[in-house]
Amino acid sequence: MDTILVVNAGSSSVKFQIFAVDGDARLQRQIKGQMDGIGSRPRLRASAANGDPLADRAYPIERVPDVTAALEVAGIWLKDELRINPIAVGHRVVHGGPEYERPVRIDHGIVARLEKFVPLAPLHQPYNLAPIRSLLENRADIPQVACFDTAFHRTHGALADHYAVPFQLYAEGVRRYGFHGLSYEYVAKTLRQVAPEVANGRVIVAHLGNGASMCAIREGRSVESTMGFTALDGLPMGTRPGQIDPGVVLYLIARKGMSAADVQTFLYRDCGLKGLSGISNDMRELLESDDPHAILAIEYFVHRIGLHAGMLAAALQGIDAFVFTAGIGENSAHIRARIGEKLSWLGVELDAAENARHAGSISRPGSRIPVYVVPTDEELMIAQHTLALLMNGQPSSPNRERAS
Ligand code: AMP
Repeated sequence: MDTILVVNAGSSSVKFQIFAVDGDARLQRQIKGQMDGIGSRPRLRASAANGDPLADRAYPIERVPDVTAALEVAGIWLKDELRINPIAVGHRVVHGGPEYERPVRIDHGIVARLEKFVPLAPLHQPYNLAPIRSLLENRADIPQVACFDTAFHRTHGALADHYAVPFQLYAEGVRRYGFHGLSYEYVAKTLRQVAPEVANGRVIVAHLGNGASMCAIREGRSVESTMGFTALDGLPMGTRPGQIDPGVVLYLIARKGMSAADVQTFLYRDCGLKGLSGISNDMRELLESDDPHAILAIEYFVHRIGLHAGMLAAALQGIDAFVFTAGIGENSAHIRARIGEKLSWLGVELDAAENARHAGSISRPGSRIPVYVVPTDEELMIAQHTLALLMNGQPSSPNRERAS
């Protein structure tokens, strides 16, 4: 059976999934796996789609020193033990820069262009590109597709794309890109099936996971996002602060003597729920705690979501639906209920029972704004794009579908 390999490569782990392609070009998830502890304590774990374990094994550090080796080891395991030889590989690539508004089939020229965006996402882009380069060199026969976290937001108008800085910086690429685009694209697409009456209207989607952002979507297209130049801006996250006065960064440098590298680590790893609570970046742990700092961190998270929802509602000039997705958005009825209260001025009324049972539609019948929970599936989105590019040379993006 034909299969597609989906790869999400980071600095210390490579996540992968295998999708089977049936005769009608439908995709069926078969395997979820991940190589963790790259360069420290490498470990391959994988399970079947139904959760049955398939592998859990440690490797010596010399065998898996980097991301490229991690994917190679996973590929050997898939080939030798499961007889899986994918017909194509779809990669999550965090940054498509200003150029890429849809997924693209990879060749050496594309990789060279994507290298240019490394300075825009230094913690992600190099690790996304390393296995792509290695596969291009060693398995040139396998088609590869890059799917970007920024692409869905390339429909932003000039006002959503700019900072108020000299134009030269914009020309260099200092723009409000927005991220979590594959998640928003999947949710927007799914909404057309689960709530077609609002899917073409004005929708705010809240992607609330360890990374968190919100997106304003009109007629299926992104018009504003809480994230900007990097994935630091907007909502508070597990370990990132979200919106912060740049003066704080100047203070850290001038008064605390922190270097650019120190500030980077601080902003990506030590802030957000973790920094504010002093306890954890994990929402479940905070919800179980009665420590006042944990309580404040949760209140701040909910408060900032309320504020940003107001901003996005202004961008859309009203809203027709609100959607929760990702780890917290899909699983925490408590956080959804508290956000629902913050949105009551917009006309949101949640149905406590439907919310508690994690229904797909969680607002009361009379709620002026319907509220949905749509589980995201970025890997399936990548597999769909990869298959579509393979079959007709076109990605399966909503923009493209409308354009054709
Ligand atoms: P993600 O990055 O989408 O995997 O989401 C991770 C976040 O979701 C973490 O903060 C988890 O604590 C949170 N999460 C997952 N399940 C729950 C739950 N049942 N209640 C509250 N938070 C949850």
